[in-house]
Amino acid sequence: TAELTSTLQNEQDTHDFAQKLAQVVTSGLVFLAGDLGAGKTTLTRYWLQALGHQGVVKSPTYTLVEPYQIGSRSVFHFDLYRLQAPYELELMGIRDYLEQAQNLLIVEWPSKGEGVLAEPDLVIHITQENDIRYVQLVGKVTWIQQLEGMMS
Ligand code: ADP
Ligand code: MG
Repeated sequence: TAELTSTLQNEQDTHDFAQKLAQVVTSGLVFLAGDLGAGKTTLTRYWLQALGHQGVVKSPTYTLVEPYQIGSRSVFHFDLYRLQAPYELELMGIRDYLEQAQNLLIVEWPSKGEGVLAEPDLVIHITQENDIRYVQLVGKVTWIQQLEGMMS
């Protein structure tokens, strides 16, 4: 794996970063970590919109997962904060979602699904200090290299 960090000074930066992500990461399993209010759902919203989703992106806080069909691509946005136990993911059909290599799965609070979730292709960690966010990416070397190329 390779690593990349970037600063998100404001929501516009998050928007721009999501647009780059959408050009590189269009399938696979992505863990999206960070405290409440860090900007995980906001990043996902801009990412899905950049992939071509029109309309709202609701936080799946209560539903645990929101599915999207964007063109021919299936995207599943999870928020596992309220998951009681990892095996509930099995009941939700996570195996089927994971098996389709062309699916994109974005998972907030992946720690709640430990043991059931597969190894991620990418981990995005957002940390917040005062009003500045830092985003750290660890994952597939090809993806990180492509993103680095877009940032410089
Ligand atoms: P999480 O899903 O991590 O709990 P949300 O995305 O729901 O967080 O909320 C983040 C909040 O912070 C939103 O109200 C958003 O408008 C605000 N915000 C301020 N600056 C940023 C930024 N740089 N990136 C993302 N969100 C930001
Ligand atoms: Mg959220």
